[in-house]
Amino acid sequence: MNIFSHPDFDEHERVLFGHDPQSGLKAIVAIHNTNLGPALGGCRMWPYSNEDEALKDVLRLSRGMSYKSALANLPLGGGKAVIIGDPRQQKTSELLKAMGRFIESANGQYITAEDSGTSVPDLKVMAEETSYVAGIMEKPCADGQLRSGDPSPSTAYGVYRGLVSAVEFRLGRSDLSGLKVAIQGVGNVGFRLARHLRDAGAELWVTDIYDDMVQRCVKELGATAVHSDEIYGLDVDVFAPCAMGGILNDQTISQLKATVVAGAANNQLDQPSHGEALRQRGILYAPDYAINSGGIIDVCYERMGNFDLQAVNVHIESIHSTLMEIFARADSEQQSTHVIADLVAKERFTNPEKNHQLP
Ligand code: NAD
Repeated sequence: MNIFSHPDFDEHERVLFGHDPQSGLKAIVAIHNTNLGPALGGCRMWPYSNEDEALKDVLRLSRGMSYKSALANLPLGGGKAVIIGDPRQQKTSELLKAMGRFIESANGQYITAEDSGTSVPDLKVMAEETSYVAGIMEKPCADGQLRSGDPSPSTAYGVYRGLVSAVEFRLGRSDLSGLKVAIQGVGNVGFRLARHLRDAGAELWVTDIYDDMVQRCVKELGATAVHSDEIYGLDVDVFAPCAMGGILNDQTISQLKATVVAGAANNQLDQPSHGEALRQRGILYAPDYAINSGGIIDVCYERMGNFDLQAVNVHIESIHSTLMEIFARADSEQQSTHVIADLVAKERFTNPEKNHQLP
């Protein structure tokens, strides 16, 4: 296993390996960049088939968090953690507590949150051993009720606002009634995005590997269910990937009829060249970490101890102007949108003195 010469190393500041024989914990914390603040990013638990796969995943996700927070103008750096193991079989409170102690050992340079395989209750167990946990505070909703610390509602709201921006830019319309949208993955974020879109009058086509998730959209939102393989080639205006990464690739891009791709999934482009492939086909791609930053904005305000729903939503709405600037610059420079997003974000975290921070 190479670290410093790893293709995804990309100047990480620290990569920490944690092992606790008693609980069986094997975990990696990657801290990409802390120029703008402590590195905040979720803790994923996944049954990686080998350690190289886990290292690659944590390095790529950690780097992505530096770009996401910088582009969202947050006083945060980029980091991520992975636990090697099957969350359905190997997740015990002993293991989660050992993970908490491991996070504590980074002395606040890394703050954890939810990701695939970890939930709010899991994070609360980690929080028994470390204070560097976010995404666990109960938060007020617009209707005055409280919701859990899970940032998915904020992510979904941000993706919805970003999708509207992309439609406005590419299709020249701000009214979504009758807009045709295909959503891949209707879990925590995808379902809430579907609800925002339905409320705005859009027509929905949905797929998921779990039929009960699909049926919820059919029954509650009037969506049309489609098979997983059919989702790419539908005659729709927008394709919204809200499941897993790597789905914009040589096989799928050629099938797309949508002229806008705007969704929540992380690392949607299989390779950077696929961003250019989308541009060549006249498809406007909303860069994933630019459109899905609602969740990190939510946990950032929680972490700073001044969670105010209105301020959080105003900040999330800035995804609109950020995307509009990226789209306009990409058009004028004949570049793909992800290249422009990378340039803007990297400029911010490598030159922190020029960065505009939270009010
Ligand atoms: P989730 O696990 O709740 O939902 C994902 C859904 O996708 C699940 O219902 C799953 O069954 C489905 N799915 C998986 N593979 C599929 C396939 N091949 N075809 C169709 N459906 C498939 O996850 P989530 O929290 O909704 O996150 C969705 C995506 O957004 C992930 O890529 C995540 O990394 C990203 N994201 C989430 C947040 C957040 O706040 N939850 C923030 C930023 C980015």
